[in-house]
Amino acid sequence: MHWPTTLFIAAVVAVTAVELWLDARQIAAIEAHRDRIPAPFAGRLSPEDHRKAADYTVAKVRLSRIGTLINAGVTLGLTVGGGIAAIDTLWRRTGWDEPWLGLAVIATVAAAIGMVGLPLSLLRTFRVEARFGFNRTTPKIFLADLGKGIALAALIGGPLVLAILTLMSRAGKWWWVAAFGCWLAVTLLITWAWPAFIAPLFNRFSPLEDASLKERIEALLARCGFRSSGVFVIDGSRRSAHGNAYFTGIGRHKRIVFFDTLLEQLAASEIEAVLAHELGHFRLRHVRQRLLVSIATMLAGFALLGWLAGRPTFYRVLGVPTPSAHAALILFALVGPVALFFTTPLGSLWSRRHEFAADRFASQHASARDLASALVKLYRDNASTLTPDPLYTAFYYSHPPALERIGRLTDA
Ligand SMILES: [Zn+2]
Repeated sequence: MHWPTTLFIAAVVAVTAVELWLDARQIAAIEAHRDRIPAPFAGRLSPEDHRKAADYTVAKVRLSRIGTLINAGVTLGLTVGGGIAAIDTLWRRTGWDEPWLGLAVIATVAAAIGMVGLPLSLLRTFRVEARFGFNRTTPKIFLADLGKGIALAALIGGPLVLAILTLMSRAGKWWWVAAFGCWLAVTLLITWAWPAFIAPLFNRFSPLEDASLKERIEALLARCGFRSSGVFVIDGSRRSAHGNAYFTGIGRHKRIVFFDTLLEQLAASEIEAVLAHELGHFRLRHVRQRLLVSIATMLAGFALLGWLAGRPTFYRVLGVPTPSAHAALILFALVGPVALFFTTPLGSLWSRRHEFAADRFASQHASARDLASALVKLYRDNASTLTPDPLYTAFYYSHPPALERIGRLTDA
């Protein structure tokens, strides 16, 4: 075996080991505090709520450990295990050329990965979420979502893959610049089309009707100098009892969207504070910064792929004897997450700083106390743990842990 192949296998094993170790730490930390509510939360949630949060979080981490092992198996099986090579050989018998050959191989690999992940997704929805009373997805909705997801992936991903494969085989040395352009165009198109055309395929959107809440929200928007093209409520309760709120769209077509479940959970003043936090992300340019970083990462990725795709060693090391444009794309998609895994804490740290900044923005434009009480309710109703492991938190958490976040809000 070539040493780079050994290095790749070692990297997959190392990433998997670190993931499992962090999960074990998280489970231990939660179980150790299962019977004691942290002091600042005493009296704000019941011992039953606290135990439920512990059990729910542990159940989710256990499930994700299975996912981690499956993922490692799939990555190694497809690469050094010869999976891609076998699928490639099979489709080459048709005598097709690029880009159709590549599209067939990529679609087969994607379908295989999807099928392997499906049981886990079923377990998550119908076992874990259901056991803790959060699931409202019926098998019928689940199947419909799956079908729509596959159709969307084929409709948007299919043409994009065809365009990139064509560029790779015909556009010469600088193909990756044009391919990046295609990817960027599709990404911006999806961002634009999401609120008006794609999201309504999955949920019903209706304008917010509650007049006094609407008035409150409009006053907040005016105070923050924010213009949006509407405040909407979606029927999130069709799938889950978890509440949420988000912004969607770009430019002038921004929409504010509340899950109906969130409106049921919170009082009007708390909804206002949550919205002020979300507005903070926009006003402080977090959304734009994140988009720019992901675009820059993608550009660097395409540049690297432009260099790697021309090297037969790249394919051989990763278990594919015949170099091809489609194999380059698949290998890159599989190896990328392994290579980037140890940058996860940096992204999480950046995100947590944004959350603190948005909380400060909300404290200035709405009430810190309302935001704190909204968060306590959301932690309680979503059964989020209050006692995560510090290292696990540092590595993965996009939001500051409850104690730290509420602590800062109530100190302010
Ligand atoms: Zn936030």
